[in-house]
Amino acid sequence: MAKSRTIVVSGAGIAGLSAALCLAKCGFRVLVFDKAKSFDTVGAGIQLSPNAIRALDEMGVGKQIRNSSFAPNGIDIHSASSGKIINTVPLGADVQRRYGLPYLTIHRSDLHSVLLSACNLTADIHIKTNCSVDEISTHLRGASVIINDGTSIDTISAKAVIIADGVKSKLRETILSDAPVEHSGYEAWRAMLPRELVPDYIDNDFCHLSLGSNKHIVFYPVNTGRYVNMVFVTRSKLSLNDADRNKVRKNADPKQLLKGLSRTSKEIKALTELPIDWSVYPLLKAPALKKWGKGNVIAIGDAAHGMVPFAAQGAAMAIEDAIVLADQLNTNKNTKSAIKAYEKIRRPRIKKITKLSNTNGELYHMGFPFNIVRDFIISNTKPEKLLSRQHWIYKWEPPKLG
Ligand SMILES: Cc1cc2nc3c(=O)[nH]c(=O)nc-3n(C[C@H](O)[C@H](O)[C@H](O)COP(=O)(O)OP(=O)(O)OC[C@H]3O[C@@H](n4cnc5c(N)ncnc54)[C@H](O)[C@@H]3O)c2cc1C
Repeated sequence: MAKSRTIVVSGAGIAGLSAALCLAKCGFRVLVFDKAKSFDTVGAGIQLSPNAIRALDEMGVGKQIRNSSFAPNGIDIHSASSGKIINTVPLGADVQRRYGLPYLTIHRSDLHSVLLSACNLTADIHIKTNCSVDEISTHLRGASVIINDGTSIDTISAKAVIIADGVKSKLRETILSDAPVEHSGYEAWRAMLPRELVPDYIDNDFCHLSLGSNKHIVFYPVNTGRYVNMVFVTRSKLSLNDADRNKVRKNADPKQLLKGLSRTSKEIKALTELPIDWSVYPLLKAPALKKWGKGNVIAIGDAAHGMVPFAAQGAAMAIEDAIVLADQLNTNKNTKSAIKAYEKIRRPRIKKITKLSNTNGELYHMGFPFNIVRDFIISNTKPEKLLSRQHWIYKWEPPKLG
């Protein structure tokens, strides 16, 4: 009997669609299920560093990604209280010269659309929305999933099942760890600012990172420069028991945000008065997992290692996971060994990136007077050194697929 080449993926987010593309390139048939009815404009801005672009190029979507994104010249680091630029991380031509690849900013929905279109054009990828993967069981020859489309229930067997259903993954809880998703203690206020409303003092060719006391603010162009993605991150004031703690609050009142903006320049405060919609996102983390997989089942992306976004690498790690896993499943004859090898390759890097994200979180949210020392050190660091510190992340090479 011919061995199954079918792989089931739960979740059609960045991780799930990347996995589908990589697996199809290796000759697998891929069934992807997502519980969402449709893919609306979910999420906001994503920064894509050369490590992610290199993987997207290998997946065959690099050109489309470049056409849907923006290449900023650098990241201006500001003092949130004075508004002054204290240093600039060189990107643009510097990154291109060093890595032969750009540093890009993109709306998550544009990144998602590029991946989705490429999947839809691939004969061996079948995506079904409005279908939740409710259960997974492992068995000797592979794994099975129970799919629920709201009216009927179906069981499908596969060579392997990939859990790519995000940081709030219920499958992770049932198969890998019963620990629930964790609140990081931070919340993000997010809004999209149309280009015509961007104040003159924000240079639209750069990303901006404003560091304050107990808060930081990020701006950068998305939608090929038509909008600026704004994110204000503060420590969350909700009590740990609050039932709504892990929910997104849409149409939030920016007056609440303003209350947390003491010692912040009047220009930044004025942004909260613009006629735009604000949403508040709790920043969540996946619980630390002893294992990302069981038998022929493996978790990737935020489902396995959702982290705080302060290294701007969550989506990049999901893309890297996908390509490494596909390569292991393709080159390793035994699925269980492939899954084990995948985890062995990915764990050290994910551990280091998670640590960096947490450290950046501490650094970006230092209170007075430590924030003054932080700003002094940053302003006295050579700009090239700020870029060189990311070298171990950006130099990463994906495996060749196929
Ligand atoms: C404020 C903020 C800024 C960020 N900035 C960056 C950045 O600059 N650079 C970067 O690389 N990353 C960034 N990230 C991180 C990045 O957005 C995530 O790491 C990435 O989107 C995770 O992708 P994923 O596919 O693992 O999960 P998701 O995108 O959450 O996708 C999961 C999918 O699974 C589906 N699903 C859930 N349950 C089921 C089920 N039972 N059955 C079927 N389907 C299911 C969902 O509908 C969803 O479509 C940021 C995150 C935040 C919050």
